[in-house]
Amino acid sequence: MEEKTTAPHTPCIFCRIVKGEIPSTIIYEDNTLICFLDIAPANTGHSLIVTKKHFETVTDLPDDTLQHLAVFAKKLAKAMSFALAAEGFNVLMNNRKVAGQLVPHAHIHVIPRYARDGIDLNWRPRKALPALLRDCADKIKRFKLTG
Ligand code: AMP
Ligand code: ZN
Repeated sequence: MEEKTTAPHTPCIFCRIVKGEIPSTIIYEDNTLICFLDIAPANTGHSLIVTKKHFETVTDLPDDTLQHLAVFAKKLAKAMSFALAAEGFNVLMNNRKVAGQLVPHAHIHVIPRYARDGIDLNWRPRKALPALLRDCADKIKRFKLTG
């Protein structure tokens, strides 16, 4: 069955990179993904792992595509440890505008990290009441989470 992709109404910048219409610094590509350096990196080596087909968010991705992206993220992080002497890395994905997604084409950021590199990805922790945590977990658990 043909995978369901969400056709963008406006030209999508990552689709244009996939097609080669816009230049990018490509690290790797195969039939499913393309990986290139972020044009406005948090750190040198900040990479984006982008699906070749246009999907918007993680929930739109077929499982095998997401698995492929995740396994590649692991390989890329290992490569960054050796090639860039990264001491750590952030692997993250913004999904939808409210969560900071600027380009509505599914992608994973892999950011090499170093001690005192000054990058701040942290949120302000809130106090959580045990009853609130239990209620929240119960709400989520009502949905099928496996299979
Ligand atoms: P997000 O906020 O998760 O949607 O991240 C989008 C990322 O894409 C940002 O970090 C941008 O710097 C990056 N970006 C946007 N346009 C380009 C481009 N033409 N080439 C490489 N990276 C880009
Ligand atoms: Zn796209």
